[in-house]
Amino acid sequence: MAAISGNKPHVLAVAIPAQGHVKPMMSLCRQIAKHGIKVTLVNAQTIHNKIVSSSAAEEADSDGNFVMETVPDGLTPDDDPNSLYKLLQTLPKTMPETLPELIERINGENPNEKISCVIADLSFGWVLEIAEKMGAQTVGFSPPSFATFAILLHLPNLIQQGYIDANGSLENNIDMIRLSDEIPGWRNDEFPWSIPGDLKHQKLFFNCEQSYKAANRAKWLLSNTCYELEPAACDLHPNMLPVGPLHLVETAKTQEKSRSNSGNFYPLDTSCLIWLDTKPPASVIYVSFGSLAVFSQQQLDELALGLELSGRAFLWVVRRDLANGLQAEFPDGFLERVARFGKIVEWAPQDEVLSHPAVACFVSHCGWNSTLEGVSKGLPYLCWPYFADQAHDESYICDKWEIGLRIDCDENRIRSRYEIKKKIDMVLSESRFKENALKLKETCAKSVSEGGSSYKNLMTFIDHLRK
Ligand code: UDP
Repeated sequence: MAAISGNKPHVLAVAIPAQGHVKPMMSLCRQIAKHGIKVTLVNAQTIHNKIVSSSAAEEADSDGNFVMETVPDGLTPDDDPNSLYKLLQTLPKTMPETLPELIERINGENPNEKISCVIADLSFGWVLEIAEKMGAQTVGFSPPSFATFAILLHLPNLIQQGYIDANGSLENNIDMIRLSDEIPGWRNDEFPWSIPGDLKHQKLFFNCEQSYKAANRAKWLLSNTCYELEPAACDLHPNMLPVGPLHLVETAKTQEKSRSNSGNFYPLDTSCLIWLDTKPPASVIYVSFGSLAVFSQQQLDELALGLELSGRAFLWVVRRDLANGLQAEFPDGFLERVARFGKIVEWAPQDEVLSHPAVACFVSHCGWNSTLEGVSKGLPYLCWPYFADQAHDESYICDKWEIGLRIDCDENRIRSRYEIKKKIDMVLSESRFKENALKLKETCAKSVSEGGSSYKNLMTFIDHLRK
């Protein structure tokens, strides 16, 4: 297909089938659409169904410029449609056929609005190869931290130089990789591909070759961060533009709170906002571990008892698969004892929760979206990373930005109720955490406001799309 000229620009965006990747990609799409450029977001059918059924009304009234399309999942009837790992295996097999078919269909239906540009999540770098073949411009998008992107780009060298083995683990004689003195280092189990105790799936994540190829192939590279949050990492690859925090760009520009809550895979339980309204300012501990983290029932018992022991009001997101894929059970009598001061929901409107004045701090798994969302609200953190880039985000939070504390494991790899209570008390009693967090809030707000670094980068990109 020849390069497309004379058409109205039309962007096609492809996210990977994970909550923490779809949401920021959707924010990016909406920003582009707001500037009058047509955008089509493509998701696997299962993911699309989840988004639409969680927020049908909200998606239906989206701007005329923003539409969603689907490609088949490639799952068999025996496959678990909720398994990210499964979709990460099937889609790279089926999409090289189904995506060009979709693009051909869209182009056929809109002869004056053929797809002129494809934005792909860097983890699906092969999408950009398809884009090139179809004459579209190529843009790579990296939803996690800039540091995560940087370590992925260094991976081939780290392997070649014998620092990292074929499973993605540090060689025996090495305890940490550093890219610069200013960027927190990576220990074993802190890499973006790390899944402690699950080598099989770690190998699936470790296949980072795609990001590397995509980064080389893409004409533009965008990252969901802002320069001021990670200047040292951004300086390593000045060809990638930090354009985030994208959820903040959305609320800053549109003044529509609900937009930053779009793209959820689960229905939002808004009853917690009404519950928060009844609580005094800065009195509630918000506890949430994102969409993928799971824990043993024993660990969940300790968390429940730790929250109870803290004696403070808490809002806890307990997904229905949080207990290693099963419905969590609570210790005997727990629900009755905490009824007065505790609230449990299956999925919260997180951005609105974090904006609520009643929230005092965030007990988080440190997924990058949750990190950006809390940081941009000026909240102190208690860190409880589960896998992938989360332990590195924890280092930013605790060591670099100094806005939170780690909740440490004991010798049995359990975070005990006593440790949980102790850290809640510490983070709320030492004012430096809140003070530092408020400074970062300001930094993020400036970056996405007119004239700020992320604002300018996003405008540069959008202006380019118009040409
Ligand atoms: N989230 C939400 N409600 C919840 C829990 C999470 O809306 O109850 C959102 C959260 O705001 C974030 C995303 O889900 O945008 C999770 O992404 P993150 O990178 O934090 O973690 P992941 O799910 O990828 O582990």
